[in-house]
This record gives sequence, structure tokens and C-alpha cells, in this order.
Amino acid sequence: MINLYNVSFSYPTGEGVKGVNLQITPGEFVYLIGPSGAGKSTLLKLIYMDVFPQSGHIVVNGYNSLKFKKRYIPYLRRKIGIIFQDFKLLNDRSVFENITFVLQVTGTKRGDIKKRALKVLAEVGLSHKRNKMPQQLSGGEQQRVAIARALVNEPIILLADEPTGNLDPVAANDILNILDKINVKGTAILMATHSDKLVQGTRKRIVNIMNGKLIS
Ligand code: ADP
Ligand code: MG
Repeated sequence: MINLYNVSFSYPTGEGVKGVNLQITPGEFVYLIGPSGAGKSTLLKLIYMDVFPQSGHIVVNGYNSLKFKKRYIPYLRRKIGIIFQDFKLLNDRSVFENITFVLQVTGTKRGDIKKRALKVLAEVGLSHKRNKMPQQLSGGEQQRVAIARALVNEPIILLADEPTGNLDPVAANDILNILDKINVKGTAILMATHSDKLVQGTRKRIVNIMNGKLIS
């Protein structure tokens, strides 16, 4: 489903990722662990084709980075849900509108939009807050809205870049539980974190990254 073949990418400064081989299969849950600056966000950017390898190639749900065209981006992005440390919600729109926004842009039917938004809101336990503005929610709740938004197109994989980085331990744990539930329902998850503590004792697959290279 996601395959990276000897992928290297470096910024003008020389930093980036080097010689990465990685395969993620449907429904898998993978932690990407490494210190700040190790290349975690870069690796995620390569997977959602925000940046392209300078050598090697990537295949995501049939899209090959070597044959990729700009006009494929919306189709690829519908198959990939993404969440970030800082939530990236639209602060001038309600919770409900944050979620329906993507669907309006892609021309989904009105009845479907409402049904799907309510479904993902229920999945993250925020149906009752759908008319609130993001600023009226706690950090943990805002991240749950971001998760709902990421799921509304029923992606094959959810990429999570330090999703608990701004949250207290209780809210962070909530997020991990929600990600778990989503994964059990069949969505693959790749979650980047610098926190060894967070994954201590986990039985999930762990991929370690250091100085741009995967280490086993
Ligand atoms: P992580 O997410 O693990 O903290 P990143 O992938 O963001 O690491 O960064 C990997 C390396 O690439 C770091 O040394 C970082 O400073 C550098 N880097 C990241 N983004 C850029 C950029 N846009 N321009 C130049 N260097 C960058
Ligand atoms: Mg990062």
C-alpha cells in the first residue's frame, strides 16, 4: 500500500532522509520514533507527496512518485488523512464546518456531507460540540476535530505528525485510544513522535529514525 524504495531527499542545508526503505501494509499501525530533527516530518511529507525523492521512489496506493503529476494531488490526498501537532483547524469556522469544508470542496452531495460529518464526529466523541468554534475547545478536543476531518474521506491511512505534542498526558492518552479504535476499524496509521515514553510497552510496530536513516 505504501512502499518506499531507497528514498533520499535533502534540503538545501543537506539535512533530510537517506536511503529509506519502508513498507506499510493495509491496516497496519506503525510508530515512527526519533529525536527532533531526525527526519520524521520529512518522511511523512514524502509519503503525502508534498516533497519528492531526489533518488529512489515511493508508491502510495498505486501512485508512483516517479510518474506523479500535480493533478493527481487531490485524488491522492483523499486517500491520506493527515493530522499535525498544531491541529491546523480553521478558527473562523465551527467544528462541523471544519469537517464539511473538505467535502464541499470536492463536490460531495449535501445529504452525504451531513451524514459523513456526523459519523466521524461520533467516532471521536464530539457530536455534542459540533456547533462550537475551535477556540471554545480544549487542545485534546481540537485534535479530535482534526482527526474527524482527516477521516471524513475514509482514507486508507492516517498520517499523524506528533499528534500529542501539544497535549497533557491525559489528553494525549485519549488521542492514542482514538487512533487505536480507528486502526481496529481498518485504517492504517503512521504516527511520528519523538517520545519514547509514549510508546513504551506497546506491541505495535516501531520504526526508528536517526539522522535521516531508519535503524532497526
Ligand atoms: P523531525 O520531524 O524528525 O523533527 P524534520 O523532518 O522536520 O525532522 O527535519 C529533518 C531535518 O531537515 C532537520 O535537520 C531540519 O532542520 C531539516 N529541515 C526540515 N525542514 C526543512 C526545510 N524546509 N528547509 C531546510 N531544512 C529543513
Ligand atoms: Mg517533525
